[in-house]
Amino acid sequence: MRKIQMVDLKGQYEFIRDTVDRSIAEVMDTTAFINGPQVHSFQKELEEYLGVKHVIPCANGTDALQIAMMGLGLEPGDEVITADFTFAATVEVIALLRLTPVLVDVDPVTFNIDPEAIRKAITPRTKAIVPVHLFGQCADMDAITDIAREHKLYVIEDNAQGIGAVYTFKDGRKVKTGAIGDIASTSFFPSKNLGCYGDGGAIFTNNDELAHTIRGIVNHGMYERYHHDVVGVNSRLDSIQAAVLRAKLPLLDTYNEKRKEAARKYNRAFEGVPGIQTPVQTGGEDSHVYHQYTLKIGGADRDGLVQYLNENDIPCGVYYPIPLHRQKAYLDERYREEDFEVTNALVKEVISLPMHTELDDEQIAYIAGKVKAYVDRES
Ligand SMILES: *Cc1c(COP(=O)(O)O)cnc(C)c1O
Repeated sequence: MRKIQMVDLKGQYEFIRDTVDRSIAEVMDTTAFINGPQVHSFQKELEEYLGVKHVIPCANGTDALQIAMMGLGLEPGDEVITADFTFAATVEVIALLRLTPVLVDVDPVTFNIDPEAIRKAITPRTKAIVPVHLFGQCADMDAITDIAREHKLYVIEDNAQGIGAVYTFKDGRKVKTGAIGDIASTSFFPSKNLGCYGDGGAIFTNNDELAHTIRGIVNHGMYERYHHDVVGVNSRLDSIQAAVLRAKLPLLDTYNEKRKEAARKYNRAFEGVPGIQTPVQTGGEDSHVYHQYTLKIGGADRDGLVQYLNENDIPCGVYYPIPLHRQKAYLDERYREEDFEVTNALVKEVISLPMHTELDDEQIAYIAGKVKAYVDRES
């Protein structure tokens, strides 16, 4: 059996080596390392793939979130609601811009932001909601869009984990994640579903004016050379990363299909096993792209399982071990523990198993066998 990796970038590269190497070689030949033609081509190709009017590439997914919030003109003291159970980047940029993060609990089934909790957290200062399509599964965009419309709030989708997922609205409309809200961000960090070979990110919007504002913000607030109209940042996707992404974008659907197939195989292996809750996909076939395959372990000791898997050469991850509302940087006296019942339980129960495009049947069977053996023995 091949050695099991949490994410197998090497295995994936073997299959696309020729295209990727040729694509990178073109950049080397032209030496247009910044803002080369690859960046513009990738931008156009991603716009087409997502069905969104504007893609603005930038340096990473965290910048993308920050720039999105700057573009919307949010001001210090404005409240931005986001999930307690996610990667810290989301809350970090809110705080960095001196906006007020308002963390709320998540849904126990999907682990995505809970629309009822959003409603309860709205005040006259609330300006935006940031749903994260966590682990690759679409957040409840019907409910979130309704709430936003009702209270005149912006919706900023953090699509770092969900690229390629399709949300089906109650009226049957299908829209790719990242093309639903007022604006969205994504990350091309190597392990993401569409990853480059370094850092990268992008902002998406259908709003022409907002897109124009943002194109200036990513470039030092310049709309005309050496005229700085607003305070901006320097955030660029470099040409080599764009070249890698151009080679990989045509494969994204195939990659996501491979992830879904691996998830189905894991699901079958864990079917009916007491103490193991497999991921629950609440939307249609394409509503989850399995950035992570995350189990909820009841009964048995989750940390013991992590250790047992590691002893058996199975890497795994705990995303995320600490709720954001209990992180030192984001403590706020307004938070009450009883408002975070779901997140407080999840941080003790979740475990993410190896999930990538190169997992084979033998590896999945071995991983599932070890998980079951531990849970059987310990619960
Ligand atoms: C990865 C990730 C980010 C940050 O992306 P970087 O490119 O690492 O800055 C933001 N939000 C979520 C949910 C992520 O998973």
